Amino acid sequence: MQTPTSVYLDNAATTPLSDAARSAMEPFLGDRFGNASSVYAAGREARKAVDEARERVAVAVGARPDEVVFTSGGTEADNLALKGAAWHGREQGHDGVVVTMIEHHAVLDPARWLGKQGFRVSEAGVDASGVVRLDALKAATDGKTAIVSVMWANNEVGSVQPVAEAAAIARAAGAVFHSDAVQGMPWIEIDAESADLLSISAHKLGGPKGVGALIVRRGVKIQPLFHGGGQEREIRSGTYNVAGIAGFGAAIEDWVLHRASTVEHVAALRDGLQDAIVKGLTGVRVSASDGERLPNNLHLVIEGIDGESLILLLDAAGIAASQGSACSSGAAEPSHVLAAMGVSRDLARGALRLTLGPSTTDADVDRAATTVVDAVGKLRAR
Ligand code: PLP
Repeated sequence: MQTPTSVYLDNAATTPLSDAARSAMEPFLGDRFGNASSVYAAGREARKAVDEARERVAVAVGARPDEVVFTSGGTEADNLALKGAAWHGREQGHDGVVVTMIEHHAVLDPARWLGKQGFRVSEAGVDASGVVRLDALKAATDGKTAIVSVMWANNEVGSVQPVAEAAAIARAAGAVFHSDAVQGMPWIEIDAESADLLSISAHKLGGPKGVGALIVRRGVKIQPLFHGGGQEREIRSGTYNVAGIAGFGAAIEDWVLHRASTVEHVAALRDGLQDAIVKGLTGVRVSASDGERLPNNLHLVIEGIDGESLILLLDAAGIAASQGSACSSGAAEPSHVLAAMGVSRDLARGALRLTLGPSTTDADVDRAATTVVDAVGKLRAR
């Protein structure tokens, strides 16, 4: 029989559905099944739910409701931003795409794909703490750059990026500035004014999977990925995922309401977890600890072990953890983020990411610390 997970420390991968989200969704999974674009009563009811959610998402990020473009999640929002801005830019004679080396694959891969379509693509490097080098970003950006994309915070090591400075570099060059705030949004007060395009995702903050948004500031022009019914100001066609959107709206409102106290709670627990593991083990390094880091993120590079084996031992003990990006786990390639930070291939094998959430307790942290120390001991003794 499979051991049930009793300590969940992978909140960067996804979060449990909040009560607020679940109750907002329920009616639309049942008899309120109308299409939000239909004009009769059932359609209007669905539309009302979408509009209320739009308002809630807008308030949470300091945007206007008509700037919210609902998508199927962070991946679609990122693709829409990168391709949409690049395609629009090309019409104005701009063919440059600038990203950082530590972006999520939802940004990196569309950028590289655009490169194959003839765009000039640059990937700016980062320092040893996982923070983009602004001089490199500036050097990569010119008067023909269509879009600059710098994530708000990194999903593996939690490093917070200098978004305001990056936006200034993009704007000085006349480029559109995009930020992937999928990981930043749950933990940092995000102001949509800081970017022209901003990606967020529901399932990282108590909402359902498969729904997110791209905030497209007024006056910013992008080409759509999907053509069809013309929903979302013709930027994103497709019948509304009413239940998902309603859940997203309720989740983000509820999350932001409690964010300050959650941050205080998880930061203290994270620091305790870090201390206990660092004291209990030799040959362990805390990633991105020199700069600003997400308060719920503890990323470790542990010498002399294989991280994948560690995750399996932790799982057998009922602890859910990850090596880094959930999307690339299982792949043999070491993390592109750690490589960009200058961590050797060999050391990067020993990566462990523990990400806390609002329901993490002192007991979870004590158990996780003891289990990690024990499991590393076992692996090293093999
Ligand atoms: N961007 C970042 C930084 C992420 O961490 C993730 C998910 O892990 C995504 C984008 C993709 O979001 P979604 O899972 O909603 O497609």
